[in-house]
Amino acid sequence: MGSISFDELSAPKPHVVLFPFMSKGHTIPILHLARLLIARDLAVTVFTTSANRPFISHFLTGTTVSIIDLPFPHDVEGTGIPQGIESTDKLPSISMIFEFALATERMKDDFERVLETLPRPIIFMVCDDFLWWTQDSADKFDIIRLSFMGMSAYATAVCRDAAYSGVFDDQKHHSDDELIALSRLPWISITKNDFSPEFFNRDTQSLSSQFHAKVFATIARRYGQILNSFYELEPVFVDYLKNEVAIKAWCIGPLCLTQPPFRSTSTTSAGMEEDDSKPTWVRWLDQKLEKGSSVLYVAFGSQAEVSPEQLREIAMGLEESYVNFLWVIRKNESELPDNFGERVGERGIVVSDWVDQMEILKHESVKGFLSHCGWNSVLESVCVGVPILAWPFMAEQHLNARMVHEEIKIGLRVETINGSVRGFVSGEELRKKVKELMEGENGRQVRKNVNELSVMAKKAVEKGGSSWQSLDSLIQETCDKAM
Ligand code: UDP
Repeated sequence: MGSISFDELSAPKPHVVLFPFMSKGHTIPILHLARLLIARDLAVTVFTTSANRPFISHFLTGTTVSIIDLPFPHDVEGTGIPQGIESTDKLPSISMIFEFALATERMKDDFERVLETLPRPIIFMVCDDFLWWTQDSADKFDIIRLSFMGMSAYATAVCRDAAYSGVFDDQKHHSDDELIALSRLPWISITKNDFSPEFFNRDTQSLSSQFHAKVFATIARRYGQILNSFYELEPVFVDYLKNEVAIKAWCIGPLCLTQPPFRSTSTTSAGMEEDDSKPTWVRWLDQKLEKGSSVLYVAFGSQAEVSPEQLREIAMGLEESYVNFLWVIRKNESELPDNFGERVGERGIVVSDWVDQMEILKHESVKGFLSHCGWNSVLESVCVGVPILAWPFMAEQHLNARMVHEEIKIGLRVETINGSVRGFVSGEELRKKVKELMEGENGRQVRKNVNELSVMAKKAVEKGGSSWQSLDSLIQETCDKAM
């Protein structure tokens, strides 16, 4: 177990405990939050596992955050927790999400042993909704627990209203792609395919049902929820959650505007050259900027799994669009079509390292983002004023894509060959939509919209802005209760 530096915590500063889930999309915003809380003069402790510690300490370099890594006990008897997970360091594959999330409960005893020893007052803790069992620990030590799911207010509200409207009800036989109007958000039409298939799983014995039952039961017990968003981006949905669903929610984002003061999070030296601390892809972007060229950034987050056939279609679409592109792939580059690199030449660069996505998006040459619409990616694009070509793969990404395209209108959307919101996308469709985003009239309109939102995002986190005030009121309220 990692050791805590009590020296740093000995001052009677109010203390906040953070426990992110062990995936990058869930961890990164919580690390931004850690910086934000330290800037508000609070002491912060982050819980994690040993394999995640290096990423977290690198991300929080130069801060006073204490990091505690918990072990993963293999010998917990009779907990009913599924076997087959060797550690809680990293989700082995998205298909193991429920086994993995359920297995995290094995860390509870160690978590509580350390929690008991931390300096008081702990004014609140923020734990991922996937770590539902931390609510028991919070109750045991009488600590206010706020949950974090990393979703937009839009997606959270649509899921709530869909449940209310009977979309998940097996008595209502809608076909998967039939548009269904929501009851309380009636201008939104949604299909069953916009939701994760697990929402429709009626097998109460399944891991997915067990997991959801635990998470939902805990949601009712938490003190409130942190939203990584800003009020001006989705006022109707924030109000809906607060007023109609009666959730205590604090909208304190975009957390990505709390940027760490370093350039690349790459853990290897790959992509770097000795004479220049900039990664090669950033120097490539610099060259494009010097020539006055614009670039499409292509990336699908840390979890999306792209089939080899789909990868080839993307390659074809990018090649035939004749735009400049920087494409981050989580696969081996050898799966790309033969001679792809030679055919696109200087026009494109493919990167398989971990990149600092925010640094790329902020680069002045980047004028479009072909994205899977993970919520962090959407927010990052909003913050830097880069319009999106939405291509969702899983989780709540389909809802985010609808939001991007239909609600806040900061992006276009690719269509699948079968017309469903899920499915294969042809190279020709990609070519067409990439051109439209980068050069067309629709692209111009969504670029204008996202630029306006980008200004509002920055205002929201400035002193006196909506997110700034929201965090202030949270600290005030929890300090009053804890001290
Ligand atoms: N990210 C990054 N470098 C990469 C891949 C991802 O910095 O090479 C970051 C990205 O900026 C975002 C997070 O990882 O903050 C991914 O979260 P998102 O919600 O967009 O997608 P997920 O990975 O959860 O599907």
